[in-house]
Amino acid sequence: MNKRTMLKSLTSWLAATVLPAAAVAAPPFPLKKTAAEWRKLVPSAAYAVLFEHGTERAGSSPLNAEKRQGTFVCAACFQPLFDAAHKYESGTGWPSFWQPLAGALGTSTDFKLIYPRTEYHCAHCGGHQGHVFNDGPPPTGKRYCNNGVALAFVPRGETLPALRS
Ligand SMILES: [Zn+2]
Repeated sequence: MNKRTMLKSLTSWLAATVLPAAAVAAPPFPLKKTAAEWRKLVPSAAYAVLFEHGTERAGSSPLNAEKRQGTFVCAACFQPLFDAAHKYESGTGWPSFWQPLAGALGTSTDFKLIYPRTEYHCAHCGGHQGHVFNDGPPPTGKRYCNNGVALAFVPRGETLPALRS
């Protein structure tokens, strides 16, 4: 790798990971509930991911194989997060999308694996959903790697659940 390509890859790495995340301040979430309230509303496996930043075991979610048209909503507050048209098979064992619904997600940076990763969460309740990477397919090149347990699937034609308040 010569100096120019090294600089180029460093710059694109910075632009892709550090800069956008650092520019985003943690927003206040419209829906605020205490830990005790959420524990009553969501199953413990979902709670661990949504509110304790856990990660489900790869390949464990039935939503990996979900291929129908429809909408993926936040398992905590039911805000629509992804359209099934933007789901693809990433081979990672986690439901993967190349684009979220407009305004559905917020992001922040975590350093759990030493290098910074962009964590994203439901913009309505703040529930942690997954991480976004820059190795996704066109047209965005993004891979939203989502915990299936943090989502619920609503097939097209079925009524979306009312947003929790
Ligand atoms: Zn939510």
